[in-house]
Amino acid sequence: MTNEILREGKSKKLLITEDPEVLIQYFKDDATAFNGEKKGIIESKGRVNCQISARIFKMLEEKGFLTHYRGLASDREMLVDRVDIIPLEVVIRNVVAGSLAKRFGIEEGTALAEPLQEFFLKDDDLGDPLLTRNHILAFGWATNEEMDYLAAEGLRINAVMTEFWASLGIRLVDHKLEFGRRADGTIVLADEITPDGCRLWEIGTDRKMDKDRFRRSLGKVEETYAEVCDKVSAALPL
Ligand code: UDP
Repeated sequence: MTNEILREGKSKKLLITEDPEVLIQYFKDDATAFNGEKKGIIESKGRVNCQISARIFKMLEEKGFLTHYRGLASDREMLVDRVDIIPLEVVIRNVVAGSLAKRFGIEEGTALAEPLQEFFLKDDDLGDPLLTRNHILAFGWATNEEMDYLAAEGLRINAVMTEFWASLGIRLVDHKLEFGRRADGTIVLADEITPDGCRLWEIGTDRKMDKDRFRRSLGKVEETYAEVCDKVSAALPL
């Protein structure tokens, strides 16, 4: 029996299961950039991103972080808690790149004196606008207490992930996290942690090992995703 689709996004589908508390997060090969303007397929990305994400979520769970991860249903399907996604992209940056470099006219690769946290509204039609905490509180997207939690949890996850990627010879330049609320209101880390939502630069060469290979047409997209997957799989068995 094929599971009914609850929601379909650009790179993933959410499918329902017999358990109302559990969904299947199905990872597609589709790739998009610039809010959907550039479209393509990255061969095997679904499987690779599902494997990377599952292993990282499991590691974070073992370290005591709350996540939506429940296990794998197949090589590109992850079992996850049913949550209401908070409509914010929580971006944490260690090095200047991408939209930050453009916004402030500062060269990509400049190290930040401390991790920088930014919140963007998850809304492609509006181009994911940058938000202040006041916007988030005034529009009711999260409460003050939730914002304190997201800010602190984001920094804690950044510290763990920076160390993890460094152990693989990779510098975590920036990454995007999403959080969701379980039915009882508990906030958990959701979505995915993959090269689609992180900037990963090889230590020593600054070779890009993330979605910028697709965004900027740098070539070797599939090979690089597979390389990241091999490194993560070797470090974090399931
Ligand atoms: N990011 C993402 N989804 C988005 C926008 C950004 O996963 O819709 C990630 C992106 O991969 C990078 C980080 O968030 O790791 C910061 O992205 P930035 O604001 O620099 O935007 P971009 O250069 O991707 O437009």
